[in-house]
Amino acid sequence: MSTGEGDGEQAERMAFILGLRQRGIRDVAVLRAMELVPRPLFVDPILRRHAYDDVALPIACGQTMSQPSLVATMTEALSVTAEHSVLEVGTGSGYHAAVLSHLAARVVTVDRYRSLVTEAQTRFEVLGLRNVTAFVGDGIQGMPGRAPFDRILVTAAAADIPMALVDQLKFGGIIVMPLGPPEEVQTLVRYEKAQSGRTRTDLMKVRFVPLVPGAAATL
Ligand code: SAH
Repeated sequence: MSTGEGDGEQAERMAFILGLRQRGIRDVAVLRAMELVPRPLFVDPILRRHAYDDVALPIACGQTMSQPSLVATMTEALSVTAEHSVLEVGTGSGYHAAVLSHLAARVVTVDRYRSLVTEAQTRFEVLGLRNVTAFVGDGIQGMPGRAPFDRILVTAAAADIPMALVDQLKFGGIIVMPLGPPEEVQTLVRYEKAQSGRTRTDLMKVRFVPLVPGAAATL
């Protein structure tokens, strides 16, 4: 598997970062993390020419990877620092987890499809990302063996934040997740858990694939 790195790819990546800045992404650490991840590696080869376009792209198992500006907005909202332990629910291609791996101490990512997890893990190895691990499982249950987490990112939509995720979040922690009905417009939410109480901030309207209970039986 090639990392897709070459002069042309470098130029594309610079233009990509400029495009994110033009779309209002200001967090320098997030822009740097996105500059470090070669997005073509995470994209179906047939869609290679769209790898740096600001569009959502289909991935295996009927799933979708978000457009880069949304990845950036969600990552900004998560306010990740170098000491943080981060859980991502919804590995998909592994792209967002790879971005997070450049910002956090550790990233654990979980998906219900074994084939997606296997491919993502291979991509992490190709890139030499040692602080990110992908698991097969039901992310609605979180990852009790790896909890607690400073930050939790959910990249699939549900009506409510799963209780297990709130339980596995440290005080002072943040969850970013799309909430709303499946196959319709949802709201991207930033949830903060403090000793003194919980706050919810609605960020923007989004459309994500649904969070589906249980690990997938096939694939
Ligand atoms: N973050 C990904 C895109 C994720 S798409 C990327 O950067 O490419 C949403 C993913 O959530 C899908 O891969 C889907 O299989 C997964 N998913 C849905 N329900 C899940 C669950 N209960 N547990 C774990 N993963 C789930």
